[in-house]
Amino acid sequence: MSDLPRRRLLQQGLGAGVAGAAWLALPAFVRHARAAGAPHPFALGVASGSPTASSVVLWTRLAGEALPPEVPVAWVLAADEAFTRLVARGSVPAREADAHSVHVEVPGLEPARWYWYRFDALGQRSPAGRTCTAPAADAAPARLDFAVASCQRFDHGHWAAWRDAAEHAAAGRLDLVLFLGDYIYEYTSPPGAVRAHEGGATTTLEGYRARYAQYRRDPLLQAAHAACPWIVIWDDHEVENDYAGLQGERLQPDFAARRAAAYRAWWEHMPLPPALRPAEAGGGAMTIHGRLDWGTLARLQWIDTRQFRDPQLCPRPDRGGGSNTVRLRDCPGLVRETARTLLGAAQERWLAEGWSTAPGVWNLLAQQTLMARFTREAVAGQAAGPGGGAAANGREPGHLEGRYWTDGWDGYPAARRRLLSVLAERRVPNAVVLGGDVHANYVADLRVDPDDDDARRSPLVATEFCGTSISSRGSPQRVVDAALAFNPHIRYGRSEERGYLRFTLTRERLDAEMRVVADVADPHSAVRGAARFVVEAGNVGAVRRD
Ligand code: FE
Ligand code: CA
Repeated sequence: MSDLPRRRLLQQGLGAGVAGAAWLALPAFVRHARAAGAPHPFALGVASGSPTASSVVLWTRLAGEALPPEVPVAWVLAADEAFTRLVARGSVPAREADAHSVHVEVPGLEPARWYWYRFDALGQRSPAGRTCTAPAADAAPARLDFAVASCQRFDHGHWAAWRDAAEHAAAGRLDLVLFLGDYIYEYTSPPGAVRAHEGGATTTLEGYRARYAQYRRDPLLQAAHAACPWIVIWDDHEVENDYAGLQGERLQPDFAARRAAAYRAWWEHMPLPPALRPAEAGGGAMTIHGRLDWGTLARLQWIDTRQFRDPQLCPRPDRGGGSNTVRLRDCPGLVRETARTLLGAAQERWLAEGWSTAPGVWNLLAQQTLMARFTREAVAGQAAGPGGGAAANGREPGHLEGRYWTDGWDGYPAARRRLLSVLAERRVPNAVVLGGDVHANYVADLRVDPDDDDARRSPLVATEFCGTSISSRGSPQRVVDAALAFNPHIRYGRSEERGYLRFTLTRERLDAEMRVVADVADPHSAVRGAARFVVEAGNVGAVRRD
């Protein structure tokens, strides 16, 4: 949406002291959150999400000692920042059974509109949040500004990236945040962490709730939530590292109960519809995939690569489950067991259906991790770099070369091929895959067969942007540099960048910018645009612009 007037500039806020960003300041809700002091029922902030063309979900969770089992929470939604034109209002109970969280789905809204909302409870008023609805299905919006973020490990750093995102939203340059997983990390913090997780590893409902509360007390995260609606999916650390379906990393017999607690706490803390509240049965099973049409500009689909996946093959013997990095010849099942799935059959079909109609100019797929093939050692014919794939083209399918991490798409190559084949067969236009998880920025070309760079046999079907972590540490750049030589379809790979991806989508082009934090140990850190890429509508593949 481009019709949002630039907000009046505020004199205060963390942004005022940041070189190059002094003209941008944080919205009032950050100062409110900071001024509120310790015991405040809205100390965890407010959020909105799951927008449609006619509805949006408002969220908060009351904080405080010894809250009654049920607390009435009044909410209002207004058409203006001063709350003079109220559009909707109501009251909902914040129940102890839901950790005193509230999820208000407001129907009957106008499409493509900005709204402001706030809550009242226990004689206190929350900071205001700003949210928006999607354009009507038949509308042709000129642009969409959105961010892609993931992996905000609290004890690995501060969240200047979220301050930067909130500043862009305040300036009218961010409509939507896509958060692609690892919202919390379940670990105990090691000694010497930048800031420590409270308590031990999270395994119970109480533990997960406390971890979310610790993360949500961060004012920079609160600012980004209050600035615009979010669409959220999870990855592994919302539950446990590298889990797969109902299998824990160490094959714990009680893993289903842990997963149910984790899924429940995730729902409690995310701006998700009330109807998604999971039951405890079945490990808390819940449907989180979805789609949203931004008018005729873009179809956005988001999926779940955790809950329905087959377990990773060839795990480390000391763990029993979870990921490993293996040579294909030592784990041939990776290519030979072609029925293995990352999405589950039902979700695969659902995604393909979403691409059958494809009403948008752009087709965005938000998912958890790097989709591009990423071998850590040479495969035949590819060591020569781009254009050196002639030998690879003559190879038998199912060749056993390369060294791969089994938790990502490389652990499920047949499932990846099925997904990319749908894009090819249905000629889905302007497909863009968005991801996270690997704590590095990658830009890649996606082909049905990543080893075959013959454009006739294996055309480019999608452009991939895998965004780096907000704060979680990445691997050394030299490791990535060594691997890039074996993966010529990956055009950009930076593992020491922390931050997020910012996109502007128009009917003509997609502009992508890596927003990179200078010092993740500093909440006041500068954040800059480290690289920019463009994808022209009608052309697959990103072109670097600086
Ligand atoms: Fe992560
Ligand atoms: Ca992950």
